[in-house]
Amino acid sequence: MNTWARPPRQEQRRADHDVTEVAPGVLRLQLPVDMPGLGHVNCYAIEDSQGFALIDPGLPGTTSWRNLLDRLGRAGIPLARVHTAIITHSHPDHFGGAIRLAAETGARVVTHESFRLFWETDELHEHEDSAALDLNEVEAAEEFLDHFRGLTPWGTVRSEAAPQLTRLMLEERRPNQRFPTLRPDLALADDQPVALADRDWFALHTPGHTHDHLCLYDPTHGVMLSGDHVLPTITPHIGGWQPDTDALADFITSLQRVAAVGDVTVALPAHGDPFTDLAGRADAIVDHHRQRLDHIRSSVRRLGTADVVAHMRLLFRERSWGVMAESETFAHLVHLAALGEIDRVESDGPATFAPRHH
Ligand SMILES: [Zn+2]
Repeated sequence: MNTWARPPRQEQRRADHDVTEVAPGVLRLQLPVDMPGLGHVNCYAIEDSQGFALIDPGLPGTTSWRNLLDRLGRAGIPLARVHTAIITHSHPDHFGGAIRLAAETGARVVTHESFRLFWETDELHEHEDSAALDLNEVEAAEEFLDHFRGLTPWGTVRSEAAPQLTRLMLEERRPNQRFPTLRPDLALADDQPVALADRDWFALHTPGHTHDHLCLYDPTHGVMLSGDHVLPTITPHIGGWQPDTDALADFITSLQRVAAVGDVTVALPAHGDPFTDLAGRADAIVDHHRQRLDHIRSSVRRLGTADVVAHMRLLFRERSWGVMAESETFAHLVHLAALGEIDRVESDGPATFAPRHH
């Protein structure tokens, strides 16, 4: 760490208690989170004649739930008036609070149609049996963690299994449940309208940060709920986790898509402050990735045949090394391979890439 640490990014700031109106009929409630690079998540409350919809009601677990109740109290919103939870994507700081919200209020859960919790695999459901429901807390936590151990998609051993997050998830288990689940009551297709605050918002499927990311656009007031797709001062992480996808290509296409939406007066991100120049910010993030691609092109020339970790070490400063940086690097390498600029070498070991020989 250098001693002149740069000022904290907006997304890193601790959650403010104050509730503010950030667009017509839209309140910003900040909930504390403690994740790499993030100090709060914005939960937006949108009022209509039926009550309130909450966008991204925060982390799983009792602490975050109490913070949500505190902010709702400050906003003068009785819990019973919350009728909908909208989730921008399948990361725990966004969907976690919706599990208890749906259970306690019967709120309907709205997501993009591709939404899926990362532990919800068919394989897991096939193995669901009554004996597994008798697991005690420690056994359940171990089994949950096991699900995240093993190999990353780029073939390295995954060591960071986020035990703290696992504990929070397990706090959301209902009796007779092995792991918590969250299934949408309304799964939105791209471009589908949804009525909130007595006006129509349009679902924009914006894959890249995750495969299931959703932005919502209100053309009446030019409001874009941008989730983690476009953040004001940090570049969103690209999830390189889906097999056989070029997540960076998806991300760039999704950024160009929101940049092309005319008449956006304010973007409301899931972390950090509202901002006005959505197109400019989306373009800047695309540029950032084009520069990273150039960086990797030169690493490929330097390293020759090399795996993801070797590339990551050239792309990132040492303090950032780890599974997130590997994932980010992998997404860029997969993109260059999809463009036909480099080759992915067939091997049983870690994913390896090589310069293309013409
Ligand atoms: Zn987030």
